[in-house]
Amino acid sequence: MIDQFQRPLHDLRISVTDRCNFRCVYCMPKEVFGKDFAFMERDELLSFEEMTRLARISVAHGVEKIRLTGGEPLLRKGIEELVAMLAALRTPDGRPIDIAMTTNGSVLALKARALKDAGLKRVTVSLDSLDDATFRAMNDVKFPVAKVLNSLDVAHSVGLGPIKINMVLKRGQNDQDIVAMARHFKGTPYILRFIEFMDVGSSNGWEMGDVVPSAEVVARINAELPLEEVAPNKTGETSRRWRYRDGEGEIGVISSVTQSFCHSCSRARVSTDGKLFTCLFATEGHDLRALMRGGCTDEQLAEVLKQIWRERTDRYSELRSAETGRLRASGKKRIEMSYIGG
Ligand code: SAM
Ligand code: SF4
Ligand code: SF4
Repeated sequence: MIDQFQRPLHDLRISVTDRCNFRCVYCMPKEVFGKDFAFMERDELLSFEEMTRLARISVAHGVEKIRLTGGEPLLRKGIEELVAMLAALRTPDGRPIDIAMTTNGSVLALKARALKDAGLKRVTVSLDSLDDATFRAMNDVKFPVAKVLNSLDVAHSVGLGPIKINMVLKRGQNDQDIVAMARHFKGTPYILRFIEFMDVGSSNGWEMGDVVPSAEVVARINAELPLEEVAPNKTGETSRRWRYRDGEGEIGVISSVTQSFCHSCSRARVSTDGKLFTCLFATEGHDLRALMRGGCTDEQLAEVLKQIWRERTDRYSELRSAETGRLRASGKKRIEMSYIGG
């Protein structure tokens, strides 16, 4: 399946819950996601069977990698059952699929073994600072760094690797910790990735001045811990790799804002309530839950999926400035990261 810019559908991200126990300032700010915020009701969520059905059809049409995300995916009850159902899927030529998860690590230590046994291959854990005060302020629920570090160790010990660590940078909030984070994870089994703060959703008050460009991140680390660029593992990889010249591992930078990678974007996202989005910056999704609950067959679902992907022209990040203006003028709201999954 190829879209209008010759991009295949290769990755599927499934948001398994819109809820989260953190209130990260760049994702679910408390002012918006407060006590009165209406999260989805249980019957609105896709069931594990519905998610697996969509995954199975997607895998039959080219998807080889599935990432579970959210919200906080580990808050969805029985998530390891979903992992086991997805792990049983095979590509048309009989290969297992690559199943990963992005998590804030808050309860990963408790769940890592069950997830591994169910067939999860690896996790990406978000951690924005090693400094407790900074991290507590960024997650805005006073969650301590030590618990996330413990989760990393447990996940590593049960074999959920290679483990990546996502650090979202917001200028003035945690950019002073860039080198300390690099130093801490240098020479460990963990691959640290620095992510530019994105203008996703409509809640996080994004401004260009908040973004720490990846080029600056690399320069700041390189000044103390010399780096050299490495070729990507595969095409379509969002992260650019840099390794330490002394051979002690590598870092990644994800430059969604300053160097877009739309030209190779092969990802589709399914929201918690079963809408298919072909771009993180979409304003509307395609309601696959309605089709499934309306009794459509697998063949019909596959046709819809093929048609949506064939018509896809998304390249928001490439057009960012023009699109941001157009969206603001139209009054349309972009969907939130916690709903569609990162
Ligand atoms: N709750 C899980 C977590 O935090 O890892 C999974 C969902 S979260 C939406 C997925 C990833 O998106 C996280 O690594 C998070 O840091 C990142 N993220 C959220 N909002 C972002 C933003 N505005 N810009 C860049 N990355 C963002
Ligand atoms: Fe929750 Fe993840 Fe968003 Fe933070 S980034 S609020 S942990 S969903
Ligand atoms: Fe993909 Fe949309 Fe992000 Fe471009 S802006 S990389 S098309 S999700």
